[in-house]
Amino acid sequence: MLRRTFTTSLAAFVGQAYATNGSQSIRGKLAPGPKPTLLTPAGPITLTGDAGTLFVLGDLRLKDLDVELLGQPASAEPGAPFQIQPLHKRAVFVYKAGKRLMVTYWCEVCSIRTFTPGVCMCCQDETAVDFKERLESDDLSTAK
Ligand SMILES: [Zn+2]
Repeated sequence: MLRRTFTTSLAAFVGQAYATNGSQSIRGKLAPGPKPTLLTPAGPITLTGDAGTLFVLGDLRLKDLDVELLGQPASAEPGAPFQIQPLHKRAVFVYKAGKRLMVTYWCEVCSIRTFTPGVCMCCQDETAVDFKERLESDDLSTAK
């Protein structure tokens, strides 16, 4: 059986780099929770992904936001859940004021950024949702 796996590096993934390596983009209103759903004009789409992504999609602070997700249907069957790319590929975006933003979490006290909701690894305070157009780390990696 010939089956090629493409492991394209999406490290510098900013802007509209979708539709590469077979991934699809879906957009709609997020209904977060233990079984997150994307409400699209074509109907609701059940979502699935890795543990980190499901943490983000379970965040009730993202309810009703205009969300874009990158991934592909988990199977060819009608009504199959949409499998979102792993968290580290940054496949969850929110549109606000026409801008495509990444979902991150920020501790004001410690200046620590994380990519899943929860308490700060340092001070144990609840982190705030912080939508970012680009990350400080991206600035660093493109500075030279
Ligand atoms: Zn902290």
